Amino acid sequence: MRGASYDVVVAGGSISGLLCAREVAAGGHSVLVVEEDYEIGTPEHCGGLVSSRGLEELGVVPFGGMLMHRVERARITSPDGAHAEIDAKRQNVLCISRRELDKQAAHQAQRAGADIMTRTSLQERTREGVRISGAGGGADASIINCRIMVDARGAAALAQRDRDGIIPSAQYEVYADWIEDGRVEVLPDRLKYPGFFAWVIPSGRGRGRIGAAGRGINALADRGGGGDGRGCGIIRKIFAPIWIKGPIKRFHDAGSGIITVGDAAGQAKPTTAGGIFSSGMGGILAGRAISRHLDGGDGSTRGIDGLGDSYRAAWYKRFGGEFERQSIARRILERADNGAINDVIRRVSPEALREISAEDDFDFHVSGIIKLLGAVGTARAAGSMLGAELRRLIPGQ
Ligand SMILES: Cc1cc2nc3c(=O)[nH]c(=O)nc-3n(C[C@H](O)[C@H](O)[C@H](O)COP(=O)(O)OP(=O)(O)OC[C@H]3O[C@@H](n4cnc5c(N)ncnc54)[C@H](O)[C@@H]3O)c2cc1C
Repeated sequence: MRGASYDVVVAGGSISGLLCAREVAAGGHSVLVVEEDYEIGTPEHCGGLVSSRGLEELGVVPFGGMLMHRVERARITSPDGAHAEIDAKRQNVLCISRRELDKQAAHQAQRAGADIMTRTSLQERTREGVRISGAGGGADASIINCRIMVDARGAAALAQRDRDGIIPSAQYEVYADWIEDGRVEVLPDRLKYPGFFAWVIPSGRGRGRIGAAGRGINALADRGGGGDGRGCGIIRKIFAPIWIKGPIKRFHDAGSGIITVGDAAGQAKPTTAGGIFSSGMGGILAGRAISRHLDGGDGSTRGIDGLGDSYRAAWYKRFGGEFERQSIARRILERADNGAINDVIRRVSPEALREISAEDDFDFHVSGIIKLLGAVGTARAAGSMLGAELRRLIPGQ
C-alpha cells in the first residue's frame, strides 16, 4: 500500500464520510474511505429516526430492510407522569435501520468510484498524506498520499476539543410488549438525565430502541425509557457520546488540508443530537465543494481556505439559523427544573398541540419548541430561568 495515492482520503465510513466520498467520486476524483470498524454500519449507534424528505435530499431511497416503521405520534412525558402528545403523521418521520442506510451510502459511493477499506484506522495526517493502520495499512505499509483529508470520525473526535459539549448516551435495542407501535416517547427529567432526556423509539411489532443521555449518567447502568420498572428483553446495546454544542467554529484547516464533516464538525442538532440529515448534508456539501475545488473552480485560487469557506457557507445557509435557535432553546431547557417541565406539560393546551402537529417540521423543529414554551406562558411559569434568552427566541415575551 505504500505509495498509494488519492485526491482525497476520508477518515470515517459512516453517513457523512460516505456521502462526502460519493460526491467526490461522482465529480471524477479519486477517493478512499477508511473505516476502523469491521463492517460499514456496524455496530449500529443510532435511533434511526429521520424524515422521509431528509432521506430524499440525502439521495437515499428507503427500501427493503431499511424502512422499519413509521412514526405517527410523539409523546412527551413529564417527570411527574403527565403526557402531551403530538400527532406526527404530517411530518413523515421514519424509523430506519441505520445499518442498511450506511450500507446503501457505501454502495452508492463505491458505484461512483470510491474505494472503501474497513478495519482500517486513521492514525494521523502527515505532510504528504495520511498514516493508517489495520487491515488496509498492513504491517509496515501505512502511508497514503492525498491532497485533502476529510475528517468524518464522528462526535468522539470532538472529545479532546471540548469535553463540556459531549454527553454520554446508552441505547438498547429491545423487545417489550409496552412499546406502542407508531409512538415515539421523550422523557425529560433533570435529575435522572441532566442536560438531556430518555427516549423510546418503536421499530415495530413490540420491538424498539430505548435510551438515555445525560451529564454524569452511568451509561452502563441506565436504560432510560425502559429503566423505570418496565421490563424488556435486550437484543443489543450501544454506548456512544453525543455532541450538543452545535457547529464548531471552523470546518477546515488550511495548514493541514483537513476538511471536517458531520458530527465531527458538530453538525448534529443541538436539541436532540439527531444528525442523520444535517451531518449527512455536511458530507454532501463538503464533497461537492471539494470536487469543484479539485476541478480548479469554486475559490480554488484561495486554496483550502476558499474551499472551506464555500462549504461552510453552503451548510450555514441551510442549517445555520435553525441551529442557532436550537442552541438557545437548549440553554433554556437545560435550566428548567422538573417543576417547570411538569408545569409546561400539564398546561399546554390541546389547541397548541394541534397547531404544533399541523405545522412542526422534524428537521427544523425549533418552531415547535417555541410554541410549546410560549403556549403556556412558560415565561411566567419559569421566570428567571428563561429571561433574556427566551425573548431572543420568542419576540414579544
Ligand atoms: C444513541 C444515539 C442515538 C441517535 N439517534 C439518532 C436518530 O434517531 N436520528 C438521527 O438523525 N440521529 C441520531 N443520532 C445521531 C447520529 O447517529 C449521528 O448524527 C450520525 O451518525 C453522524 O454521522 P457521522 O458520519 O458524522 O459520524 P458517525 O456516524 O459517528 O461515524 C463516525 C465513523 O468514524 C469511524 N471512525 C472513528 N475514528 C476513526 C479513525 N481514527 N479511523 C477510521 N474510522 C474512524 C467510526 O467507526 C464511525 O464509523 C444518534 C446518536 C446516538 C449516539
